[in-house]
Amino acid sequence: MSTSEEIIALHKQFVMPTYAPGLVFVKGKGAKVWDADGKEYLDFLAGIAVLSVGHCHPKVVKAIKTQAATLMHVSNLYYNENQPKLAQALSTRSLNGKCFFCNSGAEANEGMIKLARLWGHAQGKYEVISMTNSFHGRTLATLTATGQTKYQKGFEPLPAGFVYAEYNNLESVRAAINEKTVAVLVEAVQGEGGIVPALPEFMLGLRSLCNEKNILLLCDEVQCGFGRTGHWFGFQEFGIQPDAFSLAKGLANGFPIGAIVAAPKLSDIFQPGNHASTFGGNPLACAAALATIETIEEEKLLENATAMGDLFRQKLKKLVKKYPFIKDVRGIGLMVGLVGDRPVKPLEVILREKGLISIATHDTVIRFLPPLNVKASQVRQAVKIVDEACAQWQTTMSQPQN
Ligand SMILES: *Cc1c(COP(=O)(O)O)cnc(C)c1O
Repeated sequence: MSTSEEIIALHKQFVMPTYAPGLVFVKGKGAKVWDADGKEYLDFLAGIAVLSVGHCHPKVVKAIKTQAATLMHVSNLYYNENQPKLAQALSTRSLNGKCFFCNSGAEANEGMIKLARLWGHAQGKYEVISMTNSFHGRTLATLTATGQTKYQKGFEPLPAGFVYAEYNNLESVRAAINEKTVAVLVEAVQGEGGIVPALPEFMLGLRSLCNEKNILLLCDEVQCGFGRTGHWFGFQEFGIQPDAFSLAKGLANGFPIGAIVAAPKLSDIFQPGNHASTFGGNPLACAAALATIETIEEEKLLENATAMGDLFRQKLKKLVKKYPFIKDVRGIGLMVGLVGDRPVKPLEVILREKGLISIATHDTVIRFLPPLNVKASQVRQAVKIVDEACAQWQTTMSQPQN
């Protein structure tokens, strides 16, 4: 096997520099990963909320192996047995309508925006209202829907038909609605935006506002969906139903997949020829997703996400009292944000050196997204590392700046 240096050199020579990776990982098991030098880490990033049931869960590995050796791909010109089974599993747990499958979060949101536009087309409605600090992906439409200009700079002109409202401010959404509005797009918990949960009155208010104005409520569940909040889907925390929602990240535990899940009202808007994806819903991706769903249910991981998330936040709250530069701990289930009073990238680096993988987001927030089957002992170990890392960071702060 190549050394870390060889892999990094090869990467820098041949892969576009869109990311700034930190380590070379070579192996994973549950909530643990190992780098090329054999060092062990506690993985509280889980591939950015992708590894729902942890690295290399035997049930998912087996499903992928078996399906890969049976039938990997047939195109959507033919039926395959796994696609409708997965659609049934998602629909019966949510909106009781129909699904469309694709390969990523951005693609799911892009498709959901197309679905909304097609629904509103006859009435001349096409404008989508999205929220400040949201994140919806990197395609041209989804980066335009993303309410953060830093992702848009340099890619202008941006596609038309997108306007913004303030997250958790119902009146600002009301003010943005006009006769062209087709949908409101929202995350039940903003992930990339810094682990910011929606307020219950905001989500309930959006539902009734959309009903009142005859516009669609679309939820981006790419990060907060699929068990992360302790519910199958983030909007279920608020007891509301959107008209459609998108999924990707955690859906197949690392096998690439995306999905649009629609209520009956939107289930038959797309007709043959309106939308498509070559890989979407292929038997292999769907087998991985079905095995992930079965595992979440068999191992009672929704309950675990709630219990471990509560334990994690409760223990981290002690650090808010202990360190003046830690301001808050927030989130729902296993979306956990540790909020600093300054940029927290240095803390992310110290955490990594001490063997805990996390990600700094929105400048001042450390985001933790451990697998849904994380154990209490691992949560305690993580908190201990965070405590030690904060103490170390503090010593560098008190040193005089030169
Ligand atoms: C990650 C993410 C996306 C984009 O998903 P990709 O698979 O990277 O295209 C969209 N929305 C949210 C909320 C996300 O967290």
